[in-house]
Amino acid sequence: MAVGGDGCFLIDASGKRYFDGSGGAAVSCLGHSNERVVAAIKAQVERLAFAHTGFFTSEPAEALADLLIAHAPGDLDRVFFVSGGSEAVESAIKLARQYHLERGEGQRRHLIARKQSYHGNTLGALSAGGNAWRRAQFAPLLTEMSHIDACYEYAERREGESLETYGQRTADALETEILRLGPETVMAFIAEPVVGATLGAVPAAPGYFARIREICDKYGVLLILDEVMCGMGRTGHLFACEAEGIAPDILCIAKGLGAGYQPIGAMLCSKAIYDAIAGGSGFFQHGHTYLGHPVAAAAGLAVLQELLDRDLVAQVQARGAYFETALRARFAQHPHVGDIRGRGLFWGIEFVAERDGKTPFDPALGVAGKLKKAAFDEGLVCYPMAGTRDGRQGDHVLLAPPFIASEAELDGALDALGRAV
Ligand code: PMP
Repeated sequence: MAVGGDGCFLIDASGKRYFDGSGGAAVSCLGHSNERVVAAIKAQVERLAFAHTGFFTSEPAEALADLLIAHAPGDLDRVFFVSGGSEAVESAIKLARQYHLERGEGQRRHLIARKQSYHGNTLGALSAGGNAWRRAQFAPLLTEMSHIDACYEYAERREGESLETYGQRTADALETEILRLGPETVMAFIAEPVVGATLGAVPAAPGYFARIREICDKYGVLLILDEVMCGMGRTGHLFACEAEGIAPDILCIAKGLGAGYQPIGAMLCSKAIYDAIAGGSGFFQHGHTYLGHPVAAAAGLAVLQELLDRDLVAQVQARGAYFETALRARFAQHPHVGDIRGRGLFWGIEFVAERDGKTPFDPALGVAGKLKKAAFDEGLVCYPMAGTRDGRQGDHVLLAPPFIASEAELDGALDALGRAV
């Protein structure tokens, strides 16, 4: 049982301290016990705990929306607050659907996603995710859905193929799929700029997302980016898509927005989408009781102010570079490490039975789960993932430490991981 939090550490009932090496699941970017966020929550709950958004907005929700928009990529200029990542994705899918309906293109209902992805656990978000075992027991899910391969160089790149060619080829699979379905039936494409929960921090090849953006524009297909895990500074950019030089039509964020202090997520959308709906039926026909919750918004606002005022995104870049070097120095030559990849303070390690052929371990061995336990015993929390690629099981571990971690703390975490491995 966790009973306390102190900076980058969690404390259990026996008093043992654990370095929060995955920030939960890329949540606790500011660590635990951040005074500014705690004070903001206390002040807000005393002033106003709840006001239903059917009647009122609130000061922190308006301020947070303004600050997000001021820093958002492209022409994203409206915010819809929710309570977490799945709700943000669910809302994005419905917004895309309503947008096309309002424009008299109601036949555009098909959502294209990627096989290597996780978008949440509600029915719509689960349908978008490509994880076969999560989907299986709830099938059939949304039917107007299809999945193409993600840009997963390590597993998919052909012998001798340049990274750029590989990126273009993988992106072109979207065009092939749009043409197969008929462009007039396709609503949106959804992707994580850096694949998180399935594979452990896999960025796309250079040029991949630029080509994806072109294809979406060519066919009037909305681009939804799911930055629930990789957004809010985690990759060394406030939003991960900044590194790709593109902006989506709809952006989903959560996790790091509340940094674990409150459940909050958000969906940002472009002016064109907002205008189509405002000028049509007038409002987005979707909502939850707790959307825009004042206390959650106060937490989100304090988190974002902390990120900006302390220049923590730049710190992620600096610490991330240090972490990458240390990670590779320790693990790149390990006989059971197949791949190390990531950005900023968002890293994945893939463990394999045999390094040169990248042969995965027998899934029955449950290597990622065992590693989680061994690391836990060593006082390190890291997030195990048994993702699939090509239908095969792979063992990955995600590292997503708090942005405030010192170099010494990061070294300590990697020492603990080394002993666990
Ligand atoms: N999208 C992505 C990319 C995620 O990583 C997650 C959570 N792991 C979700 C959506 C769902 O978020 P939540 O668990 O807050 O509903």
